[in-house]
Amino acid sequence: MLTDIRQRVGQNQRITREMAAWLFEHASDEDLSALATQVRQRFHTPNEATWLMMSIINYTNVCVARCDYCSFYRLPKKPGGYLLSTEQVCAKIDALLALGGTLVSFNGGFHPKLKIEHYAELFETVHARYPDIAFFEMTVAEFMYSCKVSRMSYAEGAARLRLAGTEWITGGGSEILEDGFRKRHSPLKYSVEDYYDAQREILRAGMGSTATMVIGFDETLDERLTHIERLRTFQDEMDGALPSFLCWTYKPYNNDLGGEEIENEEYLRWLAVCRIYLDNFVHIRTSVLTRNEGALVALRYGADDFDLPTEDEVTQTAGATISEDFDAVLAEGSRLGFLLRHRDPFPVRLQRESGV
Ligand code: SF4
Repeated sequence: MLTDIRQRVGQNQRITREMAAWLFEHASDEDLSALATQVRQRFHTPNEATWLMMSIINYTNVCVARCDYCSFYRLPKKPGGYLLSTEQVCAKIDALLALGGTLVSFNGGFHPKLKIEHYAELFETVHARYPDIAFFEMTVAEFMYSCKVSRMSYAEGAARLRLAGTEWITGGGSEILEDGFRKRHSPLKYSVEDYYDAQREILRAGMGSTATMVIGFDETLDERLTHIERLRTFQDEMDGALPSFLCWTYKPYNNDLGGEEIENEEYLRWLAVCRIYLDNFVHIRTSVLTRNEGALVALRYGADDFDLPTEDEVTQTAGATISEDFDAVLAEGSRLGFLLRHRDPFPVRLQRESGV
């Protein structure tokens, strides 16, 4: 099997789902690193990687989805629930600017009172006030829920947000895109087909989106493979419109599911499999948010990009620790032999030019 895989990778050919499974289960760390690095070099200069600083603004923790792996949400009208005012959101953007950050990502819960119009007005305000900042506005999951609350189709919701100047609705909130997993842990959130229907409409409206995955719950290898197989097919269908794939790891504290965190080695091995299998993604991003400096080792396993997060309550309530010693994280990349370059946020225009 390894010979076949090496041959395919050497000839810029795709590997199959079975090959991906074999790699994860049987390949040595060295072989995974070498193969992932080979695929990485189709897209990127060897021994170079890029980064930017971002903040994830959790504008509300009120949510009705009740995912059992979530440590962040509060049901409506329960103690501890909040919805940030526009001024509170702006204060958080100011804090990021003071640190030199360039990207703000919004991520909140399924708030039953937040219609698309509410989001559109908030986004119009922050665009006007911060013209030089890039915004990831909502995740696909929040977008889907708000469209339902607003009684709008995904196409209508996407058109309204586009009119508000929204450029990105990211592929966050996807965890494991496999229906068995969804029914087990988050049956009220969405079905996989519905998720991709929504993301398709976001792209068709002229906005950008991204791909994400979270591992380390109780998902099987088969469920992980279904996630990346469906994703690769969608990316083909969309003519490579998603610029990046980010994988992070589940934090098991303060929620109903609980469990243990996976080791960094498993994370690195899975990220390498993703780099090799997802041959239609330019960027594979590693997660400093959930792995701290350990995430940088993934640059040797096919990753080429990462962000330095300044805050994210969703993962912090589940046990993530964010270090403000950004230099120490960057020094780890240099120690591993990589030249790290600060980059601008990805331009969404590239996706529009792709013809989606
Ligand atoms: S993961 Fe998101 S959708 Fe699920 S309960 Fe938490 S906030 Fe709600």
